[in-house]
Amino acid sequence: MRLILLGPPGGGKGTVAKKLEEEFNIPVISTGVILREEIERKTRLGKKVQNIMSKGELVPDEVIKEIMRERIKLEDCKGGYIFDGLPRNIKQAESLEKINKERNEHIDYVFYFEIPFAAVIERLINRRVCKKCNTNYNLLFNHPQKDNICDICGGELYQRDDDKKETIKNRLKVFTEQTLPLKKYYQEKNLLTMIDANWNAFLKIKNILKGLQK
Ligand code: AMP
Repeated sequence: MRLILLGPPGGGKGTVAKKLEEEFNIPVISTGVILREEIERKTRLGKKVQNIMSKGELVPDEVIKEIMRERIKLEDCKGGYIFDGLPRNIKQAESLEKINKERNEHIDYVFYFEIPFAAVIERLINRRVCKKCNTNYNLLFNHPQKDNICDICGGELYQRDDDKKETIKNRLKVFTEQTLPLKKYYQEKNLLTMIDANWNAFLKIKNILKGLQK
């Protein structure tokens, strides 16, 4: 089962992706997480993308294409994968389609997380992420049991560099201009399902995937 979670930053894709990973035993692939790890490890790629990411711009399509191509080759993707935060524009979606074709594979579902931008800004400003396992928390409605400590692995929580108000505004602009057109793109391919980005988004998707709905 190959899934794409699409929607604005802060829509809850990452949280839902993790639950789907557990439920269906297929890995989450998040280019955001992969790139932040490169930055943390101070690799050449990390140095190349750090400035771009801190401004909320998109990293070059070629970089994403290579990450996609290499990542889905790995053994754990045999049963499928959950793309969280990619593709981010039409060009990347076309590259993915090409890669899938070469592999005789296809995307099964694209879920679009619907949420007003005002809610997104509030969510992102209050988001905290575990340094170790990447679990997301929210200081308003999903507080960790102990301040700044991950409930799951005990890792330290931090605020992402790009979760600051000015950068958030630019990320939403980039989203509207470059990522939103993917909604129509996947609609036309009959792959798109709209999901209300609220507390039961995971359950809705799970039910759809288990064939209980639709
Ligand atoms: P995310 O963790 O998905 O919110 O991504 C954080 C940042 O990483 C984005 O604002 C971009 O700078 C970069 N990024 C992540 N995924 C992509 C992608 N598929 N294409 C281009 N840039 C990306």
